[in-house]
Amino acid sequence: MLDIPPKHKELFQQIGEAAESIDQQVYVVGGYVRDFYLKRSDSSDVTDIDFVTVGSGIELAKKVAKKLGSNQVSIFKQFGTAQVKHKNLDLEFVGARRESYRKNSRKPLIEDGSLQDDQLRRDLTINALSWSLNPDTFGTLYDPFNGIRDLQNKLIRTPINPEKTFDDDPLRMMRAVRFATQLNFKIEGETFAAIKKMAPRLAIISKERIIDELNKIVSSPKPSIGFAKLLDTGLLKQFFPEMVDLLGVDEKNGQRHKDNFWHTLKVLDNTARLSDDLWLRWAAIMHDIAKPPTKKYVKGVGWTFHGHDALGAKWVPRIFKRLGLPLDERMKYVQKLVRLHLRPIALVSDEVSDSAVRRLIFEAGDDIEDLMTLCRADITSKNEWRVKKYRNNFDRVEKKIVEVEEKDRIRNWKNPISGEEIMEVLGVKPGPVVGRVKDRIKDAILDGEIPNNYDEAYNYLLRIKSEYESQ
Ligand code: ATP
Ligand code: MG
Repeated sequence: MLDIPPKHKELFQQIGEAAESIDQQVYVVGGYVRDFYLKRSDSSDVTDIDFVTVGSGIELAKKVAKKLGSNQVSIFKQFGTAQVKHKNLDLEFVGARRESYRKNSRKPLIEDGSLQDDQLRRDLTINALSWSLNPDTFGTLYDPFNGIRDLQNKLIRTPINPEKTFDDDPLRMMRAVRFATQLNFKIEGETFAAIKKMAPRLAIISKERIIDELNKIVSSPKPSIGFAKLLDTGLLKQFFPEMVDLLGVDEKNGQRHKDNFWHTLKVLDNTARLSDDLWLRWAAIMHDIAKPPTKKYVKGVGWTFHGHDALGAKWVPRIFKRLGLPLDERMKYVQKLVRLHLRPIALVSDEVSDSAVRRLIFEAGDDIEDLMTLCRADITSKNEWRVKKYRNNFDRVEKKIVEVEEKDRIRNWKNPISGEEIMEVLGVKPGPVVGRVKDRIKDAILDGEIPNNYDEAYNYLLRIKSEYESQ
């Protein structure tokens, strides 16, 4: 039986013929073949396909482009790879390589090799599966490391001695955890032990490559699988020690606080169930990050983490920078949610004033719904009655937010009075006084002292003016 999906059969035949015409062997390899056997895709959402050829990847890519009538070939000479764009597919061609060791050097020599040589250098058995495309062997599966068996047993395993695989490229340890998370696979025992041993080697890998894999973990259906493995293998403390510091429970006078590492992972999974947004998920990861240094046992009260919201927000830029995450509005969004994550809880009580609600709407702006999503995800009690109670509380808060917003239009609020107008009315030059007056008008509106419109704000400005004059 031919395993090749009908959708790409003709394309693969043409590539096989192109290779044959220059006396090279060509194989599909990696994710495409793996996902076919996993049925993770019906090959309709495929965007890139990897090919390995015995011979020159660049020469083959040129031939393929000509045959397909594509003039989009990009050549990466220093890597010996080439990419052909065809319809909406990226076809990647690489020549098979092998490593040989010279007597006096630990540094391997990379040279041309056979298909088997190339498969030996792949990260995982399930990523080394290949189909031959040359006419006489079209569709033959090459699976020298029992990748199919590992797919069936849901196992992450390296093709060769895992210590060697990870020593050659320590990023593969992150990839092992990433695939285990995406596929919900187990990491096989020896592979796991090797990661544990080799984890410090991750230090030689650039943050850009690490964050790519980490973000794929965060984007998975159940990210906690990955973070638990990153913790257990010792990888996490290599690049995100603040998160490891969340681990552990203290006890005083028989009172224990919850373990903030496992709590954070529950919040992250809850968030992942509610939203695909990577940055909302990052807000979940960071929301309690500053709990350890703010932890205090207060007699008669219990464990407190006073100020962990503000301190956590303050830490966000430093952590984002070190991890290689963007330092733009996406960081500011995460920072904002971390800073505000306790505020909706303060709005639960019936006596809460409209002005407190207006303040939160003003500060959260268009991110108010995401903030509420984070708050709901933050409910991790095992007590069903409590969970129900907290959810009802947030329902009430959301209702208040909607009511107040309908009435007062505070979201995306802009001060109706401009700085120029203030200077004109008060007869002052640019300076700190303008900002102070602007803030007073803002406070008057948010506190409900005056309605949110231009005329009322202007009258209020005139009142401030007479105040200044009588001074
Ligand atoms: P996906 O694209 O779905 O994340 P993939 O398996 O296609 O999965 P890529 O990163 O696109 O992953 O890599 C393509 C193939 O190249 C892999 O299947 C694997 O065989 C090989 N590969 C990628 N990175 C490494 C690495 N660091 N070490 C060894 N082999 C690798
Ligand atoms: Mg890929």
